[in-house]
Amino acid sequence: MKKRDEIMDHPTTIVIVGAGAAGLTGAIAAAQTLAQEAREGSVLLMDGAKHIGAKILVSGGGRCNVTHDVITPKDYFGNRHIIRNVLAAFPVERTIAWFASLGIELKREPTGKLFPTTDKARTVLNALIDGARRAGVMIRSDHRVHDILQTEAGFLVQHNHGLTHASRLILATGGQSLPRTGSDGFGYQLARRLGHRATPTAPALVPLQLDRSMFQATLAGLSHDVELTTLVDRREVDRRTGSLLWTHVGISGPVVLDASRFWTLATKQGAFAEMYGNFVPGQSVNELRQWFIAQAAQHPRRSLVRTLSSLVPDRFAESLCRHQSCEPQTAVAQVSRLDRDRLLTALTRFHFLVIGDRGWNVAEVTAGGVPLEEINYRTMESKLVPGVYLLGEMLDCDGRIGGFNFQWAWATGWLGGESAARSLLNGKTPADPASSLG
Ligand SMILES: Cc1cc2nc3c(=O)[nH]c(=O)nc-3n(C[C@H](O)[C@H](O)[C@H](O)COP(=O)(O)OP(=O)(O)OC[C@H]3O[C@@H](n4cnc5c(N)ncnc54)[C@H](O)[C@@H]3O)c2cc1C
Repeated sequence: MKKRDEIMDHPTTIVIVGAGAAGLTGAIAAAQTLAQEAREGSVLLMDGAKHIGAKILVSGGGRCNVTHDVITPKDYFGNRHIIRNVLAAFPVERTIAWFASLGIELKREPTGKLFPTTDKARTVLNALIDGARRAGVMIRSDHRVHDILQTEAGFLVQHNHGLTHASRLILATGGQSLPRTGSDGFGYQLARRLGHRATPTAPALVPLQLDRSMFQATLAGLSHDVELTTLVDRREVDRRTGSLLWTHVGISGPVVLDASRFWTLATKQGAFAEMYGNFVPGQSVNELRQWFIAQAAQHPRRSLVRTLSSLVPDRFAESLCRHQSCEPQTAVAQVSRLDRDRLLTALTRFHFLVIGDRGWNVAEVTAGGVPLEEINYRTMESKLVPGVYLLGEMLDCDGRIGGFNFQWAWATGWLGGESAARSLLNGKTPADPASSLG
């Protein structure tokens, strides 16, 4: 147990709050940059959790999808101009090379996702912690930060073991997803106390719940392609095609997870959000009607469900027929025009009755956060409080599924850690306005 009033007074102390993906990267970058100038032992990484890196361990189904082989600003939501600049400063090639320097080789899967060759997230976390220790970073778990005060010399960080002085302060407290790992949104309050704003947040990359009147439970475990359209107040805000997974309570799968942020953000802000699916992507209802008429002429006795099964999985075809009050075994030539048109409309413009999302305990990331416009994208330094750097998920940027969120954490982490160390080496005082231009 540390002394209650511990104050570390080293003049070059960089304190990083949050030892997740971004904080660990920032700490390594800062310590290595200082070490190049023989200024060691001055980077302190604090985390409120007893065991750090919990989120890395559960990521990618325990395999950690470290990054993606093609990363573009379009893979992210937020201010794309700023996102482009951040990503350009630390592209995928650097991520691959950096992990190789930590002893982690990455392999590319057919989807473009990059995983460690070990297929174990634990090896990624261990490599980051070992890398930080080798670089001279002091890691303090069970150090929950409660407040930050600005002083003439920098910052006083108040935590559950006392006070720590910081010449440079890096906030990497994550968002609100998976709060039991320690990322519970308190970091936004710390940022606010320093003068920053935080835009409204909502769970992203989160499965959605459907009304019980729908048939999801009968299809649980089935996945197939859909073109998913999200409307907010009747205006289309997103359209994407990909794999949808039916669950006992609703829908999941990459296309739903990627689109979920539009539904959650809009709903949280009191707007009216709707989701529609075309289960035959690329085909319009008119094209399908022509196809159906041709099928009825060629194979009049074939059942409705068998006919539709050439377009969609038979389990889904059967459930859809029943949901639309059509008997699946009816011979296709016997289906009335009314039934046919209702069925084909449901097939191409299916209204998902979304009643909620699965919440922060299931969401992979946070939409919303500290506005990117409030940081200097070349350095990740706050434009409002020189000497403060903000990294990772706490910023208003969220990526789609596939390794993009970690890439954001590595990129912002590296930029922020390196810049904080350089500003110390250049002897800038936190109050120096020249250090926050950008
Ligand atoms: C189940 C799951 C699977 C995922 N899989 C992937 C994947 O495979 N690929 C991918 O790219 N992304 C994935 N993500 C998203 C990715 O994990 C996050 O985007 C990324 O970890 C964010 O990193 P971060 O360092 O910004 O925040 P976090 O990892 O959330 O770290 C923040 C840290 O700050 C600490 N902290 C918070 N407040 C305080 C405080 N007041 N005092 C001290 N410490 C504090 C927390 O304890 C935490 O350790 C997944 C997320 C989840 C939940």
